[in-house]
Amino acid sequence: MTPKAPLSVKFACLRCGECCRGQGGIWLTENDRLKAAAFLGLTPKAFSDLFLEHERKLWSVQMGSTGYCRLWVNGCRIQGAKPLMCQAWPFFYGLLKDEAVFTEAKAACPGLYAWDWARFKTAAPFSPPKSFKEFLCRAEGEAGEVS
Ligand code: SF4
Ligand code: SF4
Repeated sequence: MTPKAPLSVKFACLRCGECCRGQGGIWLTENDRLKAAAFLGLTPKAFSDLFLEHERKLWSVQMGSTGYCRLWVNGCRIQGAKPLMCQAWPFFYGLLKDEAVFTEAKAACPGLYAWDWARFKTAAPFSPPKSFKEFLCRAEGEAGEVS
């Protein structure tokens, strides 16, 4: 049975790993890539060869045969240097402006159990730098995920 988050005011990540599973689309900034490589004691090239894909000038995490990010092994292997995109989840721009997308995310993320749309859309617990927002818009545009 899927664990449920307590009905608390703060978002409680249950570290279930559901958000580390799927079709990819988890983009890394160059700074994310360098930090994660250093965290694992690898050169940027070795880290990228092992865990990333490079397509259309973008770095993204590789998904393994299990359907999980290749950096997921009973938890994120770069927990102390997670990409900004992973840090932002689930308080993400697309979710914060679209109730249908929020509803889908809520079904997948037990940490959102206690949240409803009215509360979620005004939440902003993650404040990424402006440069990251610009990066993400560019990345999703390059990947054809947003118009
Ligand atoms: S799906 Fe939600 S609860 Fe599970 S690890 Fe991701 S953010 Fe945390
Ligand atoms: S980098 Fe870590 S947090 Fe991000 S998808 Fe991979 S395992 Fe999950």
